[in-house]
Amino acid sequence: MEKYILALDQGTTSSRAIIFDHAGTVVALAQQEFAQIYPQPGWVEHNPEEIWQSCVQVMQEALQKAKLQASQIAAIGITNQRETTILWDKTTGEPLGNAIVWQDRRTARACDELKQEGYTEFIQKKTGLILDAYFSASKAMWMLDNFPEARRKQKQGSLAFGTIDSWLIWNMTEGEAHVSDVTNASRTMLYNIHTLSWDQELLDIFGISREMLPEVKSSSEIYGYTDERLLGAKIPIAGLAGDQQAALFGQMCIEPGMVKNTYGTGCFMVLNTGTQVVSSQHNLLSTIAWQVGDEVNYALEGSIFVAGAVIQWLRDGLGIIPTAQASESLASSVEDNGGVYFVPALTGLGAPHWDQYARGTMVGITRGATAAHLARAALESIALQTADVLAAMQADTGLPIQQLRVDGGAVANNLLMQIQADFLDATVIRPKVLETTALGAAYLAGLAVGYWASIDEIRQQWQVDQVFSPQLATDKVSAIKTQWQKAVSKAKGWIDSPSF
Ligand code: ADP
Repeated sequence: MEKYILALDQGTTSSRAIIFDHAGTVVALAQQEFAQIYPQPGWVEHNPEEIWQSCVQVMQEALQKAKLQASQIAAIGITNQRETTILWDKTTGEPLGNAIVWQDRRTARACDELKQEGYTEFIQKKTGLILDAYFSASKAMWMLDNFPEARRKQKQGSLAFGTIDSWLIWNMTEGEAHVSDVTNASRTMLYNIHTLSWDQELLDIFGISREMLPEVKSSSEIYGYTDERLLGAKIPIAGLAGDQQAALFGQMCIEPGMVKNTYGTGCFMVLNTGTQVVSSQHNLLSTIAWQVGDEVNYALEGSIFVAGAVIQWLRDGLGIIPTAQASESLASSVEDNGGVYFVPALTGLGAPHWDQYARGTMVGITRGATAAHLARAALESIALQTADVLAAMQADTGLPIQQLRVDGGAVANNLLMQIQADFLDATVIRPKVLETTALGAAYLAGLAVGYWASIDEIRQQWQVDQVFSPQLATDKVSAIKTQWQKAVSKAKGWIDSPSF
């Protein structure tokens, strides 16, 4: 009987299960959304039980849709929203409260205090991360201080800390395995990415005890088996990586200098830096890309807050397009941006600027400017922000970057992809399978159980949909970039204080 790999993609707004065949083709997909809980401005929570139930349901539904027996699943790979933190009781398996989601800002002040105490560089050196509420450590600290019983359970040694991956594997194995992988651990701000171990000094700063922590494993090995009652067979759980790292692997960016960008609400760009940790001089994060076998690959990462969301704003806020797709024909109706620049700093600016005081701005508007110029400027802003991050990556690594592999909802826009190739003076490669996050988790799991023999075998089956090559004259590109930098400088520091 033919065998398949199931990838469980536990995202920020939904959980998805995707079944892949040996060629890496999607056979079935099931998806379920779950509640976003906003108890206060700036707070974002998920119910861990609801997340787990949504995962159970999508796995079962995907099997039904594909008309497969559980015994036909050779392995399960997991990929997940990163940094989101859960505390649970090891004896009962019950969470002490809701998960605090990566977007949650409630610990911003605590992080500012640590900055004032001079910890920024100390933490960056060990973890590769910028001291920020985004990561798990300050969230866990908040939970210990605020969940009733948390400290008592911590003292008793019955408390478990985990990111979503740990929580899912704990439940899938009925509490047999309390594990995580290097990629997820590298986002906690408790894990030393050089020594590949939980760091006692960091644990002390955040008040976390060792017994709470999962055992950290590679990204491709058998962590445990699903309980038979879950899907009807014991299936090895054999691949694990945070979502952006899984996408990097799913894009087969396996050599140093290979980079992927995901164009969704925001953009997530990750560059493989090989077996070396590169510390950024340009506000990028250093992180672990994956560990397969004994080899650990590192990456540089930069996030853009508003990318596809600017197109949503043209649709819903301005009302100049009926659908996101329509941005392409509208922007194509003019030859260029007509001098209009749009900096979509709607929620501040991410990498490489990191300015939470920046706000959106449009400049260069004349009487000739039309909705089409605005649409073009909006698409260009996605490509220009990407070019800024890529320039920072190039400056940090000295690696020549000749191609960008792309995925995410907005890559359907061919004009955007062409503009991107022009602005980078590099080829932009769109793969056939755009489910790169799930595909990466499937590859990692399949490798561990011998479903695929080697990374090389996977690389050979990986398929391109379309390649976009640079066409615009370089003097035109540099003129656009100069104007863009001027526009960015207008957007920076606009508000006096962020609301949280
Ligand atoms: P997320 O996972 O962040 O929700 P998706 O990968 O589903 O995002 O992509 C959706 C985003 O892509 C939306 O912000 C939408 O505006 C944008 N988008 C979708 N189709 C297009 C298109 N054809 N052109 C430009 N942007 C698009």
